[in-house]
Amino acid sequence: EIAMFHYDLIVIGAGPGGYTAALRAAKRGWKTAVIERREVGGTCLNRGCIPTKTLLHASEIAAGIRGGRFGIEAQQVRLDMAAMLTRKRQVSAQLSGGIETMLRAEKVELLQGNATVLGPSQVRLTGENEQVLTARHILLATGAVPARPPIPGLDLPEVMTSDDLLENGRLYQSLIVIGGGVIGVEFATFYADLGCQVTVIEGMDRLLPALDRELGQNLGMIFKKRGIAVHTGADVTRLEKTEGGVRVCFHGKGGEESAAGEAVLCAIGRRPNTEGLFAPDVAVAMNGRFIAVNENYETSLPGIYAIGDVSGNIQLAHMAAAQGIDAVERMMGGAGRIDLTAVPSCIYCAPEIACVGMTAEEAKAEGRAVAVGKYVMYANGRTVIQDGGRAFLKIVANAESHAILGAQFMCEHATDMISEMTAAIVNGLTVEQMLRVMRPHPTFEEGVQDALEAVLGKLSGA
Ligand code: FAD
Repeated sequence: EIAMFHYDLIVIGAGPGGYTAALRAAKRGWKTAVIERREVGGTCLNRGCIPTKTLLHASEIAAGIRGGRFGIEAQQVRLDMAAMLTRKRQVSAQLSGGIETMLRAEKVELLQGNATVLGPSQVRLTGENEQVLTARHILLATGAVPARPPIPGLDLPEVMTSDDLLENGRLYQSLIVIGGGVIGVEFATFYADLGCQVTVIEGMDRLLPALDRELGQNLGMIFKKRGIAVHTGADVTRLEKTEGGVRVCFHGKGGEESAAGEAVLCAIGRRPNTEGLFAPDVAVAMNGRFIAVNENYETSLPGIYAIGDVSGNIQLAHMAAAQGIDAVERMMGGAGRIDLTAVPSCIYCAPEIACVGMTAEEAKAEGRAVAVGKYVMYANGRTVIQDGGRAFLKIVANAESHAILGAQFMCEHATDMISEMTAAIVNGLTVEQMLRVMRPHPTFEEGVQDALEAVLGKLSGA
């Protein structure tokens, strides 16, 4: 067969979706290229998951020392934001370099530049070496960028996105966070830990409104106790410049209210990155602002697929990566191994929050009989040792089959613990089967045992 195309697959975007897909395709013998206009690793490694968790690790240490709870007293804790940012960059660079090494090892061509889809099988690469490249398959994995809705004053220079805050290295005296979703809550935790006066303004009736009600409500209480001002049910109407910063005006529970701060973080969602991705004469079907795809990740254009933040409303790195593998396997006529219906969702606040599967409310709304077990971690040894605060675990099971349907955890290490529940859900394990597992002492995991026992109690009518 004469090679009609330069490549079997061209991937646009080297974020977790794109590079994972490219590696899988190359491992399966496809001639593969990835086009990236910024840094390898995408949002996740350079402006998302990794830099935020690096900074949160530092702020957690600072808060731990300052609290003086463990018999350690430091006379003076000095915060060096420049050093924190340097370390953040080193962490990103190390991981990004690791991905470049893997891509090289699998002979994936990494092409630096901007990609534009000219039509089925055709991509124009612009940058250092302009050229038109052809491929049997094209995978769009261009991710998302911070959204800025048209609220008056939201374009003031004091208004930052997560991208800006991760670069500017300023230790604010006061910060207003608009949006109490995952990104807003994590940045609020970071700045509050560093001693900044933080105010969070959220439009819905609680923080983390997309998750189980109890999680957001508890986090709201924890935030208030730590001195973070929380306004929920608050509609931001406009922002005004003040002498020392910005005033955010909102329509709140008490009528017209406002909060003032040195700077503002706008964390109200991320917009799929499709700007300039298609040549002007190329029309692709959209699903709102997302690129529309079918169950095989195919767009309306033949041979062109899309995964990750640009096409899905579950904007998570592990989802993008799992879709990347699944998409490539489907292009080859199979399917990926990972179950894409049980998507763990994690928030790295203190204590951590992690959820998977259904909440009790969701299961009931589907007409299922459910048993919910809840365990408050007051008597969990490890939680007491680490002063883990107000922690709890909730597990939802099907009252008839006893299969685990979902879990909502709020405790230290919850983001690691949730995978046990994901494993149970995707494999249809029951409460009784999960209780056969011996869990080591003293661990946070022991709490899972207690929460499972609580479900069993409900199931046996105790
Ligand atoms: P991206 O990672 O966005 O990568 C897309 C890449 O495509 C980019 O590098 C971009 O430069 C490139 N690109 C775009 N257009 C073109 C073009 N035309 N030509 C060439 N290249 C192009 N998720 C988690 O799971 N856990 C977390 O803890 C977490 N924390 C986050 C914290 C923050 C502050 C943010 C903003 C996000 C966070 N996320 C987290 C979300 C996560 O980063 C994204 O879901 C993930 O990066 C999406 O991967 P992706 O491959 O779809 O796209």
